[in-house]
Amino acid sequence: MALIVQKFGGTSVGTIERIQQVADKVKKFRENGDDIVVVVSAMSGETNRLIDLAKQASDGNPEPRELDMMVSTGEQVTIALLAMALINRGVPAVSYTGNQVRILTDSAFNKARILQIDDEKIRADLNAGRVVVVAGFQGVDEQGNITTLGRGGSDTTGVALAAALKADECQIYTDVDGVYTTDPRVVAQARRLEKITFEEMLEMASLGSKVLQIRSVEFAGKYNVPLRVLHSFQEGLGTLITLDDEESMEQPIISGIAFNRDEAKLTIRGVPDTPGVAFKILGPVSGANIEVDMIVQNVSHDNTTDFTFTVHRNDYQKALDVLKQTAEAIGAREVSGDTNIAKVSIVGVGMRSHAGVASRMFEALAKENINIQMISTSEIKISVVIEEKYLELAVRALHTAFELDAPARQGE
Ligand code: ADP
Ligand code: ASP
Ligand code: MG
Repeated sequence: MALIVQKFGGTSVGTIERIQQVADKVKKFRENGDDIVVVVSAMSGETNRLIDLAKQASDGNPEPRELDMMVSTGEQVTIALLAMALINRGVPAVSYTGNQVRILTDSAFNKARILQIDDEKIRADLNAGRVVVVAGFQGVDEQGNITTLGRGGSDTTGVALAAALKADECQIYTDVDGVYTTDPRVVAQARRLEKITFEEMLEMASLGSKVLQIRSVEFAGKYNVPLRVLHSFQEGLGTLITLDDEESMEQPIISGIAFNRDEAKLTIRGVPDTPGVAFKILGPVSGANIEVDMIVQNVSHDNTTDFTFTVHRNDYQKALDVLKQTAEAIGAREVSGDTNIAKVSIVGVGMRSHAGVASRMFEALAKENINIQMISTSEIKISVVIEEKYLELAVRALHTAFELDAPARQGE
């Protein structure tokens, strides 16, 4: 008998019919004799709807504690509905909010981190033969305030519960049948991966593949939780996220391509090139609580240099204001910005043992006449910033160049 944590995302519980289907599925697992803890998201669209209401009530700037108080209600609805549907099928079940389980988090509202999970109540229910349905995305801080874990946070609830309960597997059920070489909604030739390492999945998630929340992958890697991504309503083995990165013969150089449109680029030109210049420019940016991603400083001409960096698009205006002040203070020539950019990244542990990956990437982009504005690399990834309108073309070209395309089906 196994203990399995199953997480169902927003579209999988988006209607009553779907909730009934989830209940049927959970019932089948129970009938196999497995102990089941289910984590559910809010119905699809609900979290967005709630955030929108909050913005309307607060001139676009909701107080973070109150926002969490409200958005956590989305998941409170679905846990109760699923528990009812299970009970209706003769499956004993009980639902709990994060607070009731006691998923203890820090007090960083809207992006709280899980610190500890009490497993006592859940274990007692499992021992009594009940399916336990837990609200995803939420917890409670030391002071009893309700917190939420950031968008997509139900994945993290699932993995954290699996770690705390030492579950045999954490299954993330969603609207695609696994992790693909790239977002299958953007590239029709994308291929499902049977396996991907934690390390690669973490890069993919960090670089924009929203199929799993970044923190859920961090958690799974840290506590070695067997993690699988599966389709909610189709049979199949999905994708296993594994520790194992043993070099097999067919190990591809690149496992996947991630992308995001969430960044904006800022440039400051004609900066007097003296020691400490990077600090003078980026110090005030981080002082304003803005995270910087990619950074490029050009070689200096006539003792002045240009400096370019990217930030999240939501922080663009704030960063631009800060940079303008800095430019005046240090006597730089001009400041400019661009929000029409996108970041495309290739990810793969196979890169470690292969030379020439970067040039192959740049060649594929050059063939499509796509200009690269910025580049950054690490051991297992290469990212480029390009003009946003070329994003899909770039992803498709790279997908083909690195031989990731699914074989054409007969007749195609
Ligand atoms: P859920 O509501 O179940 O949490 P999400 O929308 O958060 O679902 O995540 C699933 C979506 O992730 C898919 O519909 C797909 O468009 C997107 N996605 C992005 N990159 C990938 C990838 N590499 N593999 C699979 N899905 C991906
Ligand atoms: N409902 C939350 C969101 O939409 C959490 C989740 O679905 O994982 O972000
Ligand atoms: Mg999700």
